[in-house]
Amino acid sequence: MNDLIILKNLRKVYKMGDEKIIALDDVSLSIKKEEFICLLGTSGSGKSTLLNMMAGLEKPTKGEITIGKYKIHKMNERDITKFRQKYVGFVFQSYNLIPTLSALENVSLGLTFQGVPKSEREKLAEKILVDVGLEKRLHHKPSEMSGGQQQRVSIARAFVGKPDIVFADEPTGNLDTKTTLEIMDLITGMAYDLKQTLIIVTHDVEISDYAHRVVSLRDGHIEKIIENENIIKGAAN
Ligand code: ADP
Ligand code: MG
Repeated sequence: MNDLIILKNLRKVYKMGDEKIIALDDVSLSIKKEEFICLLGTSGSGKSTLLNMMAGLEKPTKGEITIGKYKIHKMNERDITKFRQKYVGFVFQSYNLIPTLSALENVSLGLTFQGVPKSEREKLAEKILVDVGLEKRLHHKPSEMSGGQQQRVSIARAFVGKPDIVFADEPTGNLDTKTTLEIMDLITGMAYDLKQTLIIVTHDVEISDYAHRVVSLRDGHIEKIIENENIIKGAAN
């Protein structure tokens, strides 16, 4: 299958006063459509920087990011935002839900930018919230739900628009082991059903069992890439 995401010689340098922090150093990687990639590495290895760059949330200091026909590194903020709204879903470690909105409102909000009419948005949001097992929590606010439930809402929000690519940054970082497995099954199962490309950042080796390829980062560069021949969990095969 064709490469969907192509990263060439990516470099990211943060300047902190006189200090230069090289967060990414000469990272090249190609990711195929429908592939499930895990970015693995210890804290500070550059995982989030790399993910944020692929999602167009941060600009590289040097290098190229191509997603489909889009040259992300050359696009302006406005076009990147539009690109993200159309093609990308995001799941964060800290859920990033809007505290004053209900589960249903949080999920349907994501469809506003896609021009879906309100009644249709609510129907789609309700359906996917049922799919993620939250049929009894539609009108609960984030503070009225457990961490696992909040992450289910954020997964519903990421997937409701059926984006081509889903990025997840430590999606199970705040969850216990049992909930982690449930959430991983949910994310990989949905991505598989919708034929999406999935890129998950984690420092948890267990989670890498789900991936087609595990890309290990160390001090801002790719240390090794391991192909998973025997995916034992999830639907990613
Ligand atoms: P990870 O997600 O693997 O924990 P990050 O990508 O967040 O790592 O960070 C990689 C390196 O870049 C770290 O040394 C971090 O301190 C530094 N870094 C990340 N974001 C910034 C920033 N906005 N300003 C300065 N340094 C940063
Ligand atoms: Mg990080």
